[in-house]
Amino acid sequence: MKDRTKVVLPEEELPKAWYNLLADLPSPPPPPLHPATKQPIGPADLEPLFPREIILQEVTTERWVEIPEPVRDVYRLWRPTPLVRARRLEAALRTPARIYYKYEGTSPAGSHKPNTAVAQAFYNRQAGVRRLTTETGAGQWGSALAMACQMFGLACTVYMVRVSYQQKPYRRVLMETWGAEVVPSPSDRTQAGRAVLSQDPDSPGSLGIAISEAVEDAATHDDTKYALGSVLNHVLLHQTVIGLEAKRQMEVFEDAPDVVVGCIGGGSNFAGLAFPFLSDKLKGRAVRVVAVEPTACPTLTRGRYLYDFGDTARTTPLVKMYTLGHTFVPPAIHAGGLRYHGDAPTVCWLYHQGLVEAVAYPQTAVFAAAVQFARAEGIPPAPESAHAVRFVIDEAVRCREAGESRAILFNLSGHGHFDLAAYEEYLTGRLVDYEYPDAEIERALEGLSSLQPA
Ligand SMILES: *Cc1c(COP(=O)(O)O)cnc(C)c1O
Repeated sequence: MKDRTKVVLPEEELPKAWYNLLADLPSPPPPPLHPATKQPIGPADLEPLFPREIILQEVTTERWVEIPEPVRDVYRLWRPTPLVRARRLEAALRTPARIYYKYEGTSPAGSHKPNTAVAQAFYNRQAGVRRLTTETGAGQWGSALAMACQMFGLACTVYMVRVSYQQKPYRRVLMETWGAEVVPSPSDRTQAGRAVLSQDPDSPGSLGIAISEAVEDAATHDDTKYALGSVLNHVLLHQTVIGLEAKRQMEVFEDAPDVVVGCIGGGSNFAGLAFPFLSDKLKGRAVRVVAVEPTACPTLTRGRYLYDFGDTARTTPLVKMYTLGHTFVPPAIHAGGLRYHGDAPTVCWLYHQGLVEAVAYPQTAVFAAAVQFARAEGIPPAPESAHAVRFVIDEAVRCREAGESRAILFNLSGHGHFDLAAYEEYLTGRLVDYEYPDAEIERALEGLSSLQPA
């Protein structure tokens, strides 16, 4: 099986359970805290927003969590996803490295995000919820949730950052095609939105404002809950279906990765691929696990490990993570996504423990890698995924220079078909690099000292 280009597992090999890395960690990550008391939060604090089953998954330390059959039924529309040996890229790089990518762009929404959206819609439906709310920036998460809600008969309200709503209509149309209601944020539907509009009627919006609106909408309607597309433990759990399939596919290739790579925004696609392999690393297998982020939002590489709010509006519990401060505003010139000010607390804990490495790249280098990959393998990667591609290409070149043949596995978390405006900026030389300034980071972090527990 060594000579093949791709491994596509039969539907019978779709995993029956998600893998929970928390079961195998030598020590647990620091708990989320209530901002007022600085005491660990309990399930009751989350009940206005999430159904019970999701809350239980957020805190469980069971190693395996069964995937409900209705969720597997939807997964079967596109899963198992292919694992591809990037032979043409290897040839173009003249590298002795063996490069593999797990391709999550085959989902209807074009990314890994439906893996959790489908599960979340199912558990909400099971709990009698009628409607889900969420926020979206460019629309990747919103479209995944819109599709999932449609499949389980739920209504879906997506608060979309107003500037994206105006400038990037196609994801909105996709969400509407799947039956979601898309509301430009700030809106007059919520107190949070009205407060912003009264100050600035032309506000372009932000992810922070959109989160506040989606949370308020869910908390003030009995039949409505909220859904989050990354960062939380239950999201990482659902995404492990990626790594579980990839492990089996690597066996069919009669190979095993020396390096596992994923881009990181909130941490879900990275964790989804990496956690099943980290399980082996905790048992002593030598494998490097690398998270790749943009220099415009250098959370792991330059952030500080502190308690911070998950959102700009300071509505969430305090979570310990590498953070650039909840007041972080991503630079407008950055086209590559991955703009969250923190990362999943569990991933941050692994990084803090030295189990995970991190690297940051500027966006022109990222898009150069994206184009190189598209010209060799055909698929134009999502700009987010292209961060992982950049590292993989650099690592493959290091293998060539050192004369070493390593197996490199990465998550191609989505395709870039909705991101061609950013590709055009790159191809016409209009994309510029941006290094987030130290002074900005220092200033944002100063505000966090009062949030730390005694
Ligand atoms: C949303 C998204 C990401 C970043 O989110 P993570 O939670 O870090 O995975 C990466 N790649 C694609 C294609 C995305 O849509």
